[in-house]
Amino acid sequence: MVNGYKPKTLQEAIEIKSRTSAVPYAGGTDVMVRRPEGVPFLFLNDIEEIKQIKDDGEYIRIGAAVTFTQALGSNLVPAIMKEAVSRIAAPAIRNAGTFGGNLGNGSDKADSVMAGFALDGRVRLVSVSGERILPLGEFCIRRGVTAIRDDELIAEVLLPKANCDLPYYYKKIGGRNALAISRVAIGGVYSVRDNVIEQFTAAFIGGGDVCKRFKEIEATIIGKPVDEVKANLDAYVKAYADSLTFTRGRVSAEYRRTVITNLLRDYFDTIG
Ligand SMILES: Cc1cc2nc3c(=O)[nH]c(=O)nc-3n(C[C@H](O)[C@H](O)[C@H](O)COP(=O)(O)OP(=O)(O)OC[C@H]3O[C@@H](n4cnc5c(N)ncnc54)[C@H](O)[C@@H]3O)c2cc1C
Repeated sequence: MVNGYKPKTLQEAIEIKSRTSAVPYAGGTDVMVRRPEGVPFLFLNDIEEIKQIKDDGEYIRIGAAVTFTQALGSNLVPAIMKEAVSRIAAPAIRNAGTFGGNLGNGSDKADSVMAGFALDGRVRLVSVSGERILPLGEFCIRRGVTAIRDDELIAEVLLPKANCDLPYYYKKIGGRNALAISRVAIGGVYSVRDNVIEQFTAAFIGGGDVCKRFKEIEATIIGKPVDEVKANLDAYVKAYADSLTFTRGRVSAEYRRTVITNLLRDYFDTIG
């Protein structure tokens, strides 16, 4: 019985993935909690090409096996992403946990995924039959379900450079200050010129069974003077609250609704 494979290249890894049921293992911080039995692991930590952070001029490319600690030490990683990953768990988890694992886990509370949503991020998936690049909103389907196929691996997260230097808003509310999974979180980037909102994104954790972003609401905000948006703030906050789904988990649905709407107001206060 094989306990695991330790490929040195991505090509080797996708070939193993195409002919076995090996479970990808990056930092193991999620996969070891579930401890799948009777299947070998596909250890990804020796694959240098997915442990790099690069700037290709159009995207900041974060390899799937890049750890959160590594990202925090990089000049290339945008500030909103750094803030989001700095709030993940404790140093021991951040030293091992990776961007690919945060996506692959399919959690609706994945903090780096939410920052990626706010930045219009994509994911590059690879298999022996080629590669696909999907917007994060198409990759994350619902809690525990992603668009990845059995023969694919996550290779990189791509963050459009055009969004990486924009001012941002990020707030995470957990059960305590440290080592807490998000109960509710909001992240977004924006820009204002001559009092007009030129860019605006808002991504949410805690308002559905997957990270959420509503481009149709964003479109009603973009192009408007800041004062006009602030004058109609109740209507915008209501549009978001009506679009999000609040369910009971560790906290009540009413708690999530109240906290998200308060954070939204705080976000709008920050703009302009
Ligand atoms: C105590 C504790 C606190 C935590 N706090 C937070 C938190 O605050 N915020 C948060 O977002 N998360 C948190 N997590 C969850 C976890 O640390 C993150 O989701 C982390 O990013 C997982 O990365 P990993 O490399 O350890 O993934 P792994 O455990 O190695 O893998 C996770 C899943 O992704 C799959 N996978 C991994 N890499 C790939 C790849 N390249 N291609 C395809 N599939 C892949 C694996 O098969 C598995 O299904 C916490 C976990 C623990 C144990």
